[in-house]
Amino acid sequence: MDIRFDKARNAAHLGGEALVFHCHYYNCTLQAALEDGLGEAAQALQVRAAADVVTSQLRALAPDGGSGVRELAQRLFSTLGFGAIELGRGESRVVPLRGSHYGLGWLAIRGQAKGPVCHFAVGFVQAAVAVAEGLPLDAVAARESACVACGAEGCTIEIEVTR
Ligand SMILES: [Zn+2]
Repeated sequence: MDIRFDKARNAAHLGGEALVFHCHYYNCTLQAALEDGLGEAAQALQVRAAADVVTSQLRALAPDGGSGVRELAQRLFSTLGFGAIELGRGESRVVPLRGSHYGLGWLAIRGQAKGPVCHFAVGFVQAAVAVAEGLPLDAVAARESACVACGAEGCTIEIEVTR
């Protein structure tokens, strides 16, 4: 993983995007604040923000796309501490997420959630599938159908390619 640190600006970058390291306290509290302020719109906003940044990163890190994008995305996701995803191939459209940063973080800080909380992971998976398959982002729909923060054994993200 080629994380570049710019000493002059005191900033880290990966795939042309700024990279900031935050703990689960920060991330889950920020997410809760967005949900308190924006209501149901907060989820779509967070998914889209993640998908946009990850699409840009993956395209920069794997400009030729193709079969290596799935492995790169899985490695990137786990290296950055978000958990472990298994991006299926072909017809497989169910992505298990183990050790979710957001899901487990939410449980640790806020207790059981009313709905899935792994919005960043949903956007990440949406972007990874779109880049791997050479599709525009809006051709891939993703949603979290089970979340550890809601009492599930693990998180599950379901993908639907609409084109
Ligand atoms: Zn989850």
